[in-house]
Amino acid sequence: MLELKNIKKYYKVGEITTKALDGVSVSFRKQEFVAILGPSGSGKTTMLNVIGGLDNYDSGDMVINGKETKSFKDSDWDAYRNNSVGFIFQSYNLIGHLGILDNVELGMTLSNVSKREREEKAREALTRVGLKDHLDKKPNQLSGGQMQRVAIARALANNPDILLCDEPTGALDTETSVQIMELIRELSKEKLVIMVTHNPELAHEYADRIIEFADGKIQKDSNPHQEQPKP
Ligand code: ADP
Ligand code: ADP
Repeated sequence: MLELKNIKKYYKVGEITTKALDGVSVSFRKQEFVAILGPSGSGKTTMLNVIGGLDNYDSGDMVINGKETKSFKDSDWDAYRNNSVGFIFQSYNLIGHLGILDNVELGMTLSNVSKREREEKAREALTRVGLKDHLDKKPNQLSGGQMQRVAIARALANNPDILLCDEPTGALDTETSVQIMELIRELSKEKLVIMVTHNPELAHEYADRIIEFADGKIQKDSNPHQEQPKP
């Protein structure tokens, strides 16, 4: 459903050019849980941003459901970002002075959805992540794990096909991380989930597939559950 073909992405700052993605080719299935590992600066976030349409690429092509994004117009990118992908981040990125229902609804303001429908979808998404009894709270009245659940609800509200996660458990303790990973694994049964993480243990435990980055390239692409040594 999603294929990257020899994607290259450069950042130019003054005289210095960084090859953030140096020829990345990979395809993803409709439902899988992919973890992206690799050292800091190896291109993981850049790939996530390219896949999410937050960042453009310099060469190569990305094919989404059979459509080449090379020929996407701005309106195609807007539609893709608003309806097909959801993002979650390490830092939750919630708006502190808004209630959690409003935070989730905000994720839908750019799509053509009425206020009433937005609220209904936000309630559904918050119920799905286990927060239906907290709808009146503000983010600062929640634990880190609950805040990440709100962020997941916001990402899910439009029912995207692709969920992109940039270190979703980076700010959470081990027990809470495990709960969030269980939730994300559940979601990967119906969506493509791509997660950047610095935690190889969680990646091996939960993901179906591990892609390791180095210097803007994919160095290894493997199934962690086929690699375990026989007892
Ligand atoms: P990772 O997520 O693996 O830490 P990134 O994708 O953030 O790696 O970065 C890849 C490379 O691109 C790094 O060398 C980083 O410094 C550089 N880079 C990322 N974003 C920018 C930017 N906005 N401007 C300039 N260089 C950037
Ligand atoms: P991570 O390891 O999670 O990718 P980074 O610290 O590498 O975090 O990057 C955080 C943000 O800063 C990213 O959005 C990235 O695009 C941007 N960034 C990274 N490196 C540079 C850089 N050299 N110049 C400008 N922006 C950068």
